[in-house]
Amino acid sequence: MSHAVSSWPGSPLAQREGFSLECGGREAMKRVLILGGTGEAAKLATQAVRLQGVEVITSLAGRTRRPMTPSGQVRIGGFGGDAGLVDYMRQQRIDLLIDATHPFAAQISFNAATAARVCGLPHLLLVRPPWEPMESDRWIEVESIAAAVSILPSVAQRVFLTTGRQDLAAFAPLKGLWFLMRMIDPPTPDTPVPPGTLVLERGPFALEDERELLKTYAIEAIVSKNSGGDATYAKITAARELALPVVMVQRPPTPVGEQVVDVGKALEWLTRHLG
Ligand code: NAP
Repeated sequence: MSHAVSSWPGSPLAQREGFSLECGGREAMKRVLILGGTGEAAKLATQAVRLQGVEVITSLAGRTRRPMTPSGQVRIGGFGGDAGLVDYMRQQRIDLLIDATHPFAAQISFNAATAARVCGLPHLLLVRPPWEPMESDRWIEVESIAAAVSILPSVAQRVFLTTGRQDLAAFAPLKGLWFLMRMIDPPTPDTPVPPGTLVLERGPFALEDERELLKTYAIEAIVSKNSGGDATYAKITAARELALPVVMVQRPPTPVGEQVVDVGKALEWLTRHLG
């Protein structure tokens, strides 16, 4: 279950009460910064550039080698924490901030909430709804990747691991299990990798392909983040059809603030703030 909390522990900037810096350009043309790295962020940028009176900048972390290139301007790489994001927004005279990052990208979302508060900027979170289990689903819901690692040996021997490259190392100590590991880019050479096979692919994935994959590799369980959305949902349907358990990692908390669940609602919010 996703829940909202007010600040990211340990953020010195978040604790500086009453500290406010002018960020916006205060000009007819508004500048919106979209924190991206998701399909929704790219779609939002494509639609936002068509609006009158707005300049769109998308920020990507730079994790994937060939990212989806959104419309409008794009900048790549970390800002240097919440203070770095404040500096960036001041330099770029940003007026509005939309956080359309992945639901598991918690650090950047808390940095964004803090930076928007410090700058006094309107700030929106675009968060797709989590998947909900259906009656015949065999989900084992866990709070973290570490909890998924702990429980997995008691669930299955042959596992389809779909949590992504960044979480691969956590499963490496599970030597007695075999993993089919799907991710967009290969792990870096120094990443400990569990025993098994790597598949490098980017969604969306079709149901018939997911069904085939599970059967071909004689998969006994899936490990997934509760990312929500359609692009990677077919594996959940396929698991249901084959009566396979899914170890489902729950979302981290999101910061307190205004939230919408889809691109249409984010565009409405943006349009309102352009007036
Ligand atoms: P994270 O843990 O929340 O962020 C770690 C650091 O990466 C941030 O503190 C920030 O560095 C930088 N960062 C993250 N997103 C950024 C962005 N959009 N623009 C500029 N810098 C960004 O994030 P993560 O889980 O590593 O995810 C990284 C990116 O991949 C996100 O943009 C997210 O949308 C995308 N993504 C993540 C997942 C996932 O499962 N986590 C899945 C699909 C896509 P500084 O502190 O230096 O600013």
